[in-house]
Amino acid sequence: MATNKPLPAVTLETAPYWDAARRHELHIQRCAACGQHQFYPRIYCAQCFSNRVEWIKASGRAKVTTFTIVRRPVSPAFADDVPYVVALVTLAEGPTMMTNIVGCAPEKVAIGMPVEVTFEDWTEEISIPKFKPA
Ligand code: ZN
Repeated sequence: MATNKPLPAVTLETAPYWDAARRHELHIQRCAACGQHQFYPRIYCAQCFSNRVEWIKASGRAKVTTFTIVRRPVSPAFADDVPYVVALVTLAEGPTMMTNIVGCAPEKVAIGMPVEVTFEDWTEEISIPKFKPA
């Protein structure tokens, strides 16, 4: 497997997320002090500042909060992908993620549409969570 796309930098905070994504599981953080779920990964809770954040497997269910259709590639690496959908989806657990909606024509995507996570394997180490119609 190989890709010409820019790869995410795996850091101490994000390594558990990418490890789970490689197994095609979507993991997010939950604060053991206040119960808040959060994404993106942080070393503390963005709500109560506790450092007791733990990783959980998310349901993978979400709804489209807003989206746009990209028709001009932002770089040559994405030239073969246009048109594609960049969306903010709100996970069933609460946090919002920026992602792509795949598995349907861009014109079919709508705000409020139920979606579920799916994964694209870009390299042996990096699988990218995306969302498809549920
Ligand atoms: Zn908290």
